[in-house]
Amino acid sequence: MKVFVTGGAGYIGSVCVEELLDAGHAVTVFDNLSEGHRSAVDARASFVLGDLGDRELVGRAVAEAQAEAVIHFAAHALVGESMQNPGKYFRNNVAHGLNLLEAAVTAKVGKFVFSSTCATYGVPEKMPMDESLPQRPVNPYGESKLMFEKMLQWYQQIHGLEFVAFRYFNAAGASRKFGEHHRIETHLIPNVLKVALGQKDRCDIFGTDYPTPDGTCIRDYIHIVDLAQAHILALAPGQAGFFNLGNGSGYSVREVIQTCERISGRAIQTVEQPRRPGDPPRLVAAADKALKQLGWQPKFPQLEDIVATAWDWHLRHPDGYRD
Ligand code: UDP
Repeated sequence: MKVFVTGGAGYIGSVCVEELLDAGHAVTVFDNLSEGHRSAVDARASFVLGDLGDRELVGRAVAEAQAEAVIHFAAHALVGESMQNPGKYFRNNVAHGLNLLEAAVTAKVGKFVFSSTCATYGVPEKMPMDESLPQRPVNPYGESKLMFEKMLQWYQQIHGLEFVAFRYFNAAGASRKFGEHHRIETHLIPNVLKVALGQKDRCDIFGTDYPTPDGTCIRDYIHIVDLAQAHILALAPGQAGFFNLGNGSGYSVREVIQTCERISGRAIQTVEQPRRPGDPPRLVAAADKALKQLGWQPKFPQLEDIVATAWDWHLRHPDGYRD
């Protein structure tokens, strides 16, 4: 299948592109390289440097790629930043994303796969979280993704655009070739591993007074290769709707740090900080729908394995991508 991938130079996108190509698909990557890296784009893919805000270019690129499916990763995705600069999130994730949606309809694309997030649920009423929970985001990032989910539903109803929207829990880990390199790193696992590498003195623990057993936030970490595989399954005709993607196991910030210590064999200095605005205390997925309906089977459900692949990548790429 010819697949048009926005954000294919980014962390999750780069691994999905690799898996798509390995599965025999033809891939065009569209990325403005604001967060992504040119060298994170698999050499077998075509590459278009462009911004989703450029409506005409987006339309042309989707048409020229003769895309049969669009996978839309490109977005801003930091909870903390969205609490300081909400406009950046609504502009890029909603308004600019709309250009892609319109281009997909015009080009009669058969399937639209969207990267949504568990942040659309806000502070959940029950745990683990299934897809039927009410969606009440507590930060503009989650709100921007929920707005796009709603647009997708209208485009399906009015234009017949078939879509799959994945609500990711916490993406982590690496493939052999591609891993996590954000220019400004805010995520827990890479920040802890930077301490293990000696690139940072200590790691912050944001909030130690949450209503959790050790007082720190609990998240459900999912390997990006498993995440990527779900996208490939979503391309099958007839697959549609909203799916949580997580492993169903929650780990606290302290447990993640201990796991990183074990895997790296290095001590991690930490410093306790106040809560980070916008962080729900606990997010753990019930992903039964993806397991049953898509036939999704995570290969790396254990946090140890997820951290081990991340550590292996960081050891081989201590400075990340060069560009
Ligand atoms: N966190 C932390 N120290 C860091 C980075 C993150 O304590 O250096 C916490 C953060 O407050 C959250 C959890 O780790 O409770 C996961 O954060 P991350 O940014 O990795 O992912 P998010 O859940 O925000 O998507």
